[in-house]
Amino acid sequence: MRLSRYFLPVSKETPADAQIVSHQLMLRGGLVRQTAAGIYAWLPLGHRVLRKIEQIVREEQDRAGAIEMLMPTIQAADYWRATGRYDAYGPEMLRIVDRQDRELLYGPTNEDMLTAIFQHSAKSYRDLPRILYHIQWKFRDEIRPRFGVMRGREFLMKDAYSFDLDEAGARVSYNRMFVAYLRTFARMGLRAIPMQADTGPIGGDLSHEFIILAPSGESEVFFHKSWETLRSAEDYAVDAEDSTALQAFVDSMTADYAATDEKRDEAREAALGDDLRQSRGIEVGHIFYFGDKYSKPLGFSVSGPDGSPVTPLGGSYGIGVSRLVGALIEANHDEAGIIWPDAVAPFKVALVNMRADDGSVTSAADEIYGRLSDAGVETLYDDRDERGGAKFATADLIGLPWQLIVGPRGLANGVVELKRRATGEREEVSIESALARLT
Ligand code: ATP
Ligand code: MG
Ligand code: MG
Ligand code: MG
Repeated sequence: MRLSRYFLPVSKETPADAQIVSHQLMLRGGLVRQTAAGIYAWLPLGHRVLRKIEQIVREEQDRAGAIEMLMPTIQAADYWRATGRYDAYGPEMLRIVDRQDRELLYGPTNEDMLTAIFQHSAKSYRDLPRILYHIQWKFRDEIRPRFGVMRGREFLMKDAYSFDLDEAGARVSYNRMFVAYLRTFARMGLRAIPMQADTGPIGGDLSHEFIILAPSGESEVFFHKSWETLRSAEDYAVDAEDSTALQAFVDSMTADYAATDEKRDEAREAALGDDLRQSRGIEVGHIFYFGDKYSKPLGFSVSGPDGSPVTPLGGSYGIGVSRLVGALIEANHDEAGIIWPDAVAPFKVALVNMRADDGSVTSAADEIYGRLSDAGVETLYDDRDERGGAKFATADLIGLPWQLIVGPRGLANGVVELKRRATGEREEVSIESALARLT
């Protein structure tokens, strides 16, 4: 992509109403634009990041055996009346009346609708277990939308729903999602800690929030220091088909203490002594077993292996896809701007032409751009006729992992400069070896 033809409205000023660094950098870097309180347009650069995150989430859901579908954003109130949740949900739900006076709502979540959809066609134990998911916009009329996309009113969520015949099966589905979540966040270079969360009236231990550590986080969290080591997706390579191995793995991942302030255990904390850590955290995912909470009021049953009716048991599993864009920036930035992890970067390379007014520099930069593009390397080519300093500032601000700088002095010696954004390391290399490194 040539920057001269792109839409990248960057700005030098720090917006006064943006309190946290990710919100500031998303506005300054031209990733989003607020269109109403808590509602954002995703500008081209932000949109690319959102799609990258979405794709990682999708791949790990698919890998765990979940099946993708798509439900609408607008739901009939009847789905919620049938489960008894319509009145209970409260003012966070945006309720809409159409011209026929029918009551609709902009979905804040989909348990009610999906259970009804699945119920319509699932008749036998052979139709279970299933995990279905979609990636769709939600609306919650948050009392205090803030921190940009981290607490928006309209936001993108991945939500999955499992149906099982018995509790042992439900636990397997839960464990599969648990592992999928660890892998998903690790692939983005995030350390997301699974923390025991409230299960509501059902009780049990099958509810975890996945929390990343950041000073701007809204929750206070406490955990064993072992969570300070960053792990990669390879560390979570467990066979999802082997339910015993899966359970052992989940047990090992929940053995070390980790709790939000609502779930603190003073005795365990005291026992940890110097190994206890405290921080603030951002909830990026939440998995939850709720049993027959939705299938029972809907009268949903399937015929079991012996012909007698069985009420399916369910769980739901959310990831804040749009919140992750902000969370990732909270975890990866410096004074100059964003530092995208490779896996979610909107482009891999910022190709900087230092002298767009110099014919030989421009033809060299054009040729490099052509070769990177041919090799399928996502490149944002700064071909604008601007000062080098302004181009560097933009490249640092938008945080692409690599900067490839083409200038007259280097070219005279047959070299270009390659800079790694994360470390600031710069190297002079030949054009050929720069291309070899990037392709
Ligand atoms: P929070 O505690 O932050 O209000 P929640 O517990 O209400 O979140 P869930 O119902 O568990 O949220 O939804 C699943 C995921 O959706 C959350 O873990 C979070 O990542 C994301 N999410 C929830 N509310 C918002 C929001 N207002 N803006 C952006 N993402 C959100
Ligand atoms: Mg909430
Ligand atoms: Mg929460
Ligand atoms: Mg939650």
